[in-house]
Amino acid sequence: MDIREIERFLKFNQIKPSHHRLKIYEYLVKNKNHPTADLIYRELVDEIPTLSKTTVYNTLNLFVEKGAAQLITIDESENRYDADMSIHGHFKCKHCGKVYDFPLNFAAIDMGGLQNFQVEENHIYLKGLCNDCQIQKEN
Ligand SMILES: [Zn+2]
Ligand SMILES: [Zn+2]
Repeated sequence: MDIREIERFLKFNQIKPSHHRLKIYEYLVKNKNHPTADLIYRELVDEIPTLSKTTVYNTLNLFVEKGAAQLITIDESENRYDADMSIHGHFKCKHCGKVYDFPLNFAAIDMGGLQNFQVEENHIYLKGLCNDCQIQKEN
């Protein structure tokens, strides 16, 4: 997604594409690191000195509200954000703190007893040690 595609996408989701909003959404799309608002602020403030933490928080909330991004609450102590709205799960490494995406086959999950329920949100969170950290531990 380049900046013009992001502009179209935000408009499509009824979000006015201000400069700050474009930059924040671009960060989410480019980095895929499931950042917190604080991290986005720290990474962008040099480039955009007019940016405030409040703007970052409010913008992220707006993205979530309009369905342009999802809130990831894998860790009780921090809100993380993801522009990838496709169905996928998240794995958080307890050692390095990275959050990884993994594909999720919703149809293959046994939801016995919920056959006629309407699922509106899906959050599959796994925690443990990522591959890199396991290798480090063994050496
Ligand atoms: Zn790790
Ligand atoms: Zn994700």
